[in-house]
Amino acid sequence: MSRSLSAVDEAFRQKAVDWLDGHVADFGLPAREGLSLEQDVELARRWQKVKSENGYAVISWPAPWGPGGTVTQQALFATEESKRGFPAGHLVISLGMPTPMVLRYASDELKERFVPPAIRGETLWAQLFSEPAAGSDLAGLRMRAKRQGDDWVLSGQKVWTTLAQFCDYGVCVARHDPSLPKHKGLTYFIVDLKAPGVTVRPIRQLTGEVHFNEVFFDDVVVPDAYRLGGVGDGFKLAIETLMMERYTAAADETGFGPTLARFIELAAETPGVRGETALDDGGVRAEIARTYALQQGLVAIHGRALAEMSAGRTPGPEGSIHKLASVRHRQHLSTLALDLLGPDGLRQAPGVNPKTDFHYSWLDAPTLRIAGGTDEVLLNTIAEKILGLPQDHRPDKGVPFDEIPS
Ligand SMILES: Cc1cc2nc3c(=O)[nH]c(=O)nc-3n(C[C@H](O)[C@H](O)[C@H](O)COP(=O)(O)OP(=O)(O)OC[C@H]3O[C@@H](n4cnc5c(N)ncnc54)[C@H](O)[C@@H]3O)c2cc1C
Repeated sequence: MSRSLSAVDEAFRQKAVDWLDGHVADFGLPAREGLSLEQDVELARRWQKVKSENGYAVISWPAPWGPGGTVTQQALFATEESKRGFPAGHLVISLGMPTPMVLRYASDELKERFVPPAIRGETLWAQLFSEPAAGSDLAGLRMRAKRQGDDWVLSGQKVWTTLAQFCDYGVCVARHDPSLPKHKGLTYFIVDLKAPGVTVRPIRQLTGEVHFNEVFFDDVVVPDAYRLGGVGDGFKLAIETLMMERYTAAADETGFGPTLARFIELAAETPGVRGETALDDGGVRAEIARTYALQQGLVAIHGRALAEMSAGRTPGPEGSIHKLASVRHRQHLSTLALDLLGPDGLRQAPGVNPKTDFHYSWLDAPTLRIAGGTDEVLLNTIAEKILGLPQDHRPDKGVPFDEIPS
């Protein structure tokens, strides 16, 4: 039993592990071998339905939406699920950020309409925040929202929108008043991604796959009922959404890449010098030891965050440290694995997964050093929130957005 878990949470974890183990063959890593992204997303939707029928879909959500478990139990389940390679990652955004925001801020009628199908995986939701000129500096976004009677008209462009090509709805932030300082003139909306005027254009990545998209809004009409929060509350709600993202991003100490055990297997299979294997090499062994020590640190940080949540407190900036270290470490371990594989490391097998394949993991790792907060932004968080260093210089603070040079 983990030192940080209560007996109740440990019993929950064990029951979940038994249940998950019974579904690995149909929905876990073995079932995903060779699937295209589209097929994998389809599998994820079916897996979500099975979870929703067994009380595991949205564990920490209160009745009537979920079974009212704790956030700790939700995190424990997600960690065990991730270890076994279930395709739940495809729904992390949909159920992790936009739908909880709908639950917090939409009318009862909209909650009834939107939330149950999302929980069952029948609808998928996207997060449309980033734009070509707004990422880390989210408050710099330019998409316009103009009031027109009972509606709003949205025009502009979003980018890097994960899985938008499969999504039905999304949450987005747009600028309703450019004469206000940049953080103040923003408003938050639900958008129907099938509405007239929305164009989703996929972006192909280094791996050859298409995980994210550009999304263009060409005078898209959005009812005022789809506004979440007050006019001008967009930045506050966006930060609330991103805080959920930081947390969900921080559950796997491998950085969502192949395990250390897999690297050790690879080293044992790779011929070394004088008839030995790579596993006998001092340099390789030192890297294994270093990685093991780092992972133990990450497990401890995660355990601390779980303990904080069990005690009803919000975890602090541990999520930033966890994401920073785990994703960098995944990239490092994948690079070492490519060294061991030699020319074979350059071969890309179709339908592999970043959790099992070092080549794919190496190609994909840089994306996670950007998504959900770049390394530099996380370092700023650590500097300001943990080390108490002074804030970044913010020369545009309080300046009307339309007076900021661009
Ligand atoms: C795989 C992936 C999935 C994504 N999915 C989504 C999604 O679903 N929805 C969505 O809205 N967005 C999504 N994004 C976009 C992501 O949120 C942004 O890419 C990220 O916030 C960085 O913004 P940017 O790309 O505009 O880079 P910029 O913010 O322009 O950063 C450029 C460089 O400057 C550095 N930098 C910026 N500000 C500072 C600072 N204050 N101090 C020091 N250095 C700084 C950055 O670290 C980076 O190296 C995704 C991105 C990726 C890679």
